[in-house]
Amino acid sequence: MKLFVAGMAHETNSFSPLPTSKRSFNEPMIRPRTGEGMDRMKDAVGYADFIRLGEESQMQVAKSIFCAAQPSAPMRQKDYEELRDEILADLMAAMPVDMVLLMLHGAHVAQGYDDCEGDIAERVRAIVGPKVPIGIELDLHANVTQKMLGNATALLACKEYPHIDFSERAKDLFELCKRAAKDEIKPVMAKFDVPMLGNFPTTREPLRSFVDETAKLEGKDGTLSVSLIHGFAWADFPEMGASVVVVADGDKAKAAALAETLGKRFFRMREQIKSPLRSLDDALNEAMAAPDGPVVMADRSDNAGGGAPGDSTYVLTEMMKRGIRNAALAMIWDPMAVQSCFDAGVGATLDLRIGGKTGRFSGAPVDVTAKITALAESPRQFVFGTEAPLGRSAARPRSMSTASTSCSTRSANRPSARSASPSSASIRRRRRSWR
Ligand SMILES: [Zn+2]
Repeated sequence: MKLFVAGMAHETNSFSPLPTSKRSFNEPMIRPRTGEGMDRMKDAVGYADFIRLGEESQMQVAKSIFCAAQPSAPMRQKDYEELRDEILADLMAAMPVDMVLLMLHGAHVAQGYDDCEGDIAERVRAIVGPKVPIGIELDLHANVTQKMLGNATALLACKEYPHIDFSERAKDLFELCKRAAKDEIKPVMAKFDVPMLGNFPTTREPLRSFVDETAKLEGKDGTLSVSLIHGFAWADFPEMGASVVVVADGDKAKAAALAETLGKRFFRMREQIKSPLRSLDDALNEAMAAPDGPVVMADRSDNAGGGAPGDSTYVLTEMMKRGIRNAALAMIWDPMAVQSCFDAGVGATLDLRIGGKTGRFSGAPVDVTAKITALAESPRQFVFGTEAPLGRSAARPRSMSTASTSCSTRSANRPSARSASPSSASIRRRRRSWR
């Protein structure tokens, strides 16, 4: 049996001021054909799992590229088409294949393409014909479209937010498509749209129990897979939103009925499962009143992991206004400030303008007199076990107080950042401005 594997992932934020090009996809790019980037294979969850599972099952595995970029604005059309066509050319060269597994995101938008995953699925289907199973693994922050449903054999999203289960879901999808390729099952899909948008961590009740309950439905009574799709609010196009996708064995009406039942329950719990929002004032009041530390606040609206630029100054400005001491703020994406710090060197004192540079939603730049306490050429952090580069970074205490700030740059893109907790006033302020 011959398996074809490829991956392209981008969570596109239509409101982001940060352009996305082919270069944005360079760092995690893996090209098995030329051997380029193969050392990063362990970081390519889903894609690397498909390859390993295929090889363990003694399949012949045809590997195309895997590439991913940090969330940012819709990709340049020509660049998207080039990467997509590289995958399609590899597929044509590998034909005939018995099954196709793709690691995509579900909220990838390019200029001229609202629905990159649907576009890829349609073109792959046109090459492999109607019978070959096409399995697509998605992030649960996906906007599932009719084009995806109409061309894939099975769409299956991770179940956990934070996303810790891509590898397990890759195995589920691999097994499902393998059985379909052997004609042991006939997967059919149904989607029920759930008219809500928001952040719904699966670590908290009642969603925790609901996810566990839906997982237990799989493998029973003809239900092959259930995905609770949260949607991605910042990819602004008509088909965006939350949904429930059910894959069933042969019985589409049954899949549709289950998707509707679960979708309506998902919708009914919306008030309980959404992330609690605090105003910036309330969050700072609460933090300052806490008897013990440390207290961690996250500025959700400037979450670089969701396509925001990461250089907003609202929190910094308010902390300075209040004269808050014994606090640190990290990080602000500001390559220009970092370059000045590197030029001045550790120990130097200089006037510095920080943040607020990518657009009006980032707030005003903050002017400080700063002493540079540390410089790092290539610090890295680990996000759910995956190594992520932060780019050149500088740290300094602000001269006005003992609070310190940290700035970062990354040559091709912003720092990797995935925050998943409290919120600030700026999210509401920003949403109002954007709409
Ligand atoms: Zn996600």
